Amino acid sequence: MNLMSWGMFPKIEADTFAFTNKKALQNHLKTVGECIAYGNGRSYGDSALSHHLITTRAHRCFLDFDEHHGILHVECGVLLSEILEVIVPRGWFLKVTPGTKLITVGGAIASDVHGKNHHMEGCFSASVLEYNLMLPSGKVILCSHTKNKKYFYATCGGMGLTGIILDAKISLKKISTTTIEQTTVKTANLQETFDAFEQYSQTPYSVAWIDSQAQGAALGRSLLMCGDFSTKGSLHYTKKKRINIPKNFPSSLLSSWSVTLFNRLYYNRFTQNITTEEVDIDTFFYPLDAIENWNRIYGKEGFTQYQFILPKAHSFDGLHAILTAIAASGKGSFLAVLKLYGKTNKNYLSFPMEGYSLALDFKIEPGLFELLDSLDALVLKYGGRIYLSKDVRVSKTVFEQGYEQITRFRALRKEHKMDKTFHSLQSKRLEL
Ligand SMILES: Cc1cc2nc3c(=O)[nH]c(=O)nc-3n(C[C@H](O)[C@H](O)[C@H](O)COP(=O)(O)OP(=O)(O)OC[C@H]3O[C@@H](n4cnc5c(N)ncnc54)[C@H](O)[C@@H]3O)c2cc1C
Repeated sequence: MNLMSWGMFPKIEADTFAFTNKKALQNHLKTVGECIAYGNGRSYGDSALSHHLITTRAHRCFLDFDEHHGILHVECGVLLSEILEVIVPRGWFLKVTPGTKLITVGGAIASDVHGKNHHMEGCFSASVLEYNLMLPSGKVILCSHTKNKKYFYATCGGMGLTGIILDAKISLKKISTTTIEQTTVKTANLQETFDAFEQYSQTPYSVAWIDSQAQGAALGRSLLMCGDFSTKGSLHYTKKKRINIPKNFPSSLLSSWSVTLFNRLYYNRFTQNITTEEVDIDTFFYPLDAIENWNRIYGKEGFTQYQFILPKAHSFDGLHAILTAIAASGKGSFLAVLKLYGKTNKNYLSFPMEGYSLALDFKIEPGLFELLDSLDALVLKYGGRIYLSKDVRVSKTVFEQGYEQITRFRALRKEHKMDKTFHSLQSKRLEL
């Protein structure tokens, strides 16, 4: 079977195993050799790719829902979208959600995903009460913030390299409506963007779209969108129709010219410096999910998302240098998203640290990896790191310099023979 993740690069031949029950999975782990869990393939690069995949989507049962306290117990293959359909009309929402709801709970834990409220609520693991993890030996252990802590710290953000997460209990956030009061601030340059983030840092959700091609005095101009759930409105929540991008979408439509045009039009769609409006959950949290298979606009060679984070003290200078290098390269990105992050957690490989992170999508084309190598050097110079969940090409040296707890992670993997069983193309490249 030909498989890939969201970036459609690389594509590999893999066999898949959809276990029917724990016993079947235990037996499989004894004989399969190297393998990795595959959730819904929404990671961008090669973290969920190996020649032997353990697919989890068949495990999508709701095991329990304590509607009174907002505690949900689900199997690992349940999508966040499936959870929202059940909990939102009952007045609950996810405490932490990424920019797509089309990911599994197992994938959310393994990447320790974050959302627009990291500066307030931290990563997905902060909302995880406990989960069952199957180790390479077939033994199942319960992990939480207090039980089997080192497995918990290694698995949240551990990219599937410690075992198979079977099911999880998560705590939810109470909401009284499905309406978000959104404020959009139009900024003229990077300094104004930083000032706006700081000014709205007490707003629960914030994210900025940056014009990655603006240069000179306009470098770093952006639209900062922030907001919170309204207390006025209903809990009405329906599935929306999605537009589909066809398989043979002509990638020639995506050129530096069209990216420049898009960036200009997008930035100028707001005429006022500050605009307030009411929007629904899907528009605010998951705008890209409205277009099915939007990854196809990049053509058959695929694309990658480059996401890095810099500590707060160096964020401004670092972003200035990196945005200048990107604008000068002529390789623009439609999607350039800047977020403010709060404190780092105890997980060994979780991406966030207190500071700012930028994520940019780039079509795979000649010269791209050379550009990204030069951006890596800047990320390291300013004390930052790269997000594994988006990555497909970072070197072992660059990765290791960003993640100071890597030695602990490797030691745990060795001790429990996880390194003999769980491997992805990414873990091979990074020698995890
Ligand atoms: C449009 C879009 C927007 C996004 N926005 C954000 C964002 O705002 N913030 C953010 O943090 N991420 C974001 N992401 C990335 C995405 O949330 C993560 O990559 C997530 O892990 C994908 O989950 P998945 O179920 O598709 O897992 P996959 O992509 O299939 O796998 C991802 C990793 O999880 C592991 N894994 C999956 N299931 C299990 C399991 N049961 N047990 C053990 N390991 C498992 C895999 O081995 C792999 O290492 C976005 C992705 C897209 C496409």
